[in-house]
Amino acid sequence: MRMHIGGEWVDKPQKIEVLNPYDGSVVDTIPRGDHDDVETALKTAERGAKIMAKMTGYERYEIIHKVSEMMAERTDELARIITLEEGKILAEATMEAGRAAEIIALSAEEAKRLYGEVIPLEGGPGVKGKLGFTVRVPCGIVVGISPFNFPLHLVCHKVGPALAAGNAIIVKPATDTPLSALKLVELFLEAGTPPEAVQCLTGSGSVIGDSLCADRRVRKITFTGSRDIGEHICHTAGLKRVTMELGSNSPLIVMPDADPEKVAAAATASGYSNAGQVCISTQRVIAHEDIYGDFLDAFKSTVEGISTGNPLEAPTKMGPMIREDDAIRVSEWVDERSAAVLNSSPAVKEVGRSTLRHSSPMSSQR
Ligand code: NAP
Repeated sequence: MRMHIGGEWVDKPQKIEVLNPYDGSVVDTIPRGDHDDVETALKTAERGAKIMAKMTGYERYEIIHKVSEMMAERTDELARIITLEEGKILAEATMEAGRAAEIIALSAEEAKRLYGEVIPLEGGPGVKGKLGFTVRVPCGIVVGISPFNFPLHLVCHKVGPALAAGNAIIVKPATDTPLSALKLVELFLEAGTPPEAVQCLTGSGSVIGDSLCADRRVRKITFTGSRDIGEHICHTAGLKRVTMELGSNSPLIVMPDADPEKVAAAATASGYSNAGQVCISTQRVIAHEDIYGDFLDAFKSTVEGISTGNPLEAPTKMGPMIREDDAIRVSEWVDERSAAVLNSSPAVKEVGRSTLRHSSPMSSQR
């Protein structure tokens, strides 16, 4: 696919291959954006922001609502793209595509009700009978940077609200999974979004990220990803609005009076969807010694029931991790924990840990 900058679809001789994590085959290629492309996107977004700010909330609603309807109609197509580039099973990708359409529908609705506040000013000395009021105005240029694990849904979290509020957005999707974001931009353009107002810049974050985030024309950055990159962006951003959705560290504590079968089912469902690559999934299980054995038996059995394989095929319950080095890392963690658990007998035992790349204390051993 091509990237969308400067109001048009742009290709470049320098390409990045987007690989299917299941078999390593090339799903597609994308242009490798550079600093000149960042400049093109920023100049274009300045025009886009002016166009968007002139539109009424209802006009923005109409376009964004249309996108949500198109997404709902094309759920299967979107789900297949997600699975091919990210590796989650088709059932999970279908859920993601459905949820993404809902986020866009919600954003459309919000375009109609960007209310300000009325503030009684009598709290100040000598003021009587006076009211102040606030109005919401667009920021201007918003940069949305997204991670690999929900390549459509999390992009919608950025594009939908930015456009609903009358801004221009430049999306920088994860390099492993840019195709869903590019497809979304296609839909926004098809629905009538001004081409200057929705851009998708592909390329390595470590190469183009700083020039994008440090630029003073950008008024807001919305980022979802790892703690380390989030912190780096906060340092480079300077005085602009920044929203950070970062990694988490979610232990599940199993108390002695819990039902081991129920907890095992819940831990399996929440710990293994998307091959464990979910920021809010169960990332560690800490079980009281009185339930440890029963829980472990039940957990082992439910986990062993997860079939792995091609995520496009229905019997598969878990697809691959995004990259081979992530799978190797997790395999090493499993070996390391197995050895630690066998050699210990504390009152509580840690059963497992997340597979997601994140920057919690657990991942410091990466
Ligand atoms: P990541 O490595 O932090 O990358 C996220 C995005 O940042 C990618 O688009 C990446 O581009 C870009 N980036 C890299 N370096 C940059 C720089 N210097 N400046 C600007 N952007 C830069 O995260 P990931 O591995 O894709 O995703 C997994 C992480 O996301 C986990 O930590 C997970 O917990 C977190 N997450 C959080 C939530 C939440 O809602 N809190 C949801 C999902 C995931 P490239 O791909 O080109 O490197």
